[in-house]
Amino acid sequence: MSQSPEMKTSRCPQCGRAFHYDPAAEPAWLPFCCQRCQWVDLGRWMSGDYLVSRSLLRDNDEQED
Ligand SMILES: [Zn+2]
Repeated sequence: MSQSPEMKTSRCPQCGRAFHYDPAAEPAWLPFCCQRCQWVDLGRWMSGDYLVSRSLLRDNDEQED
């Protein structure tokens, strides 16, 4: 069998980047491109109630609008 993974293309709602993923792998961070974007998004709506661990978001935090 040849390896021909059915990669899908999507756009990350967090960073806006187009990315490929393997639906067979069922990435836990979908629809985001990576786990970090998922965390950032979670942090965004949770930040009103919780003090999210800023260290997790450190890199993206500077780009806040
Ligand atoms: Zn992203």
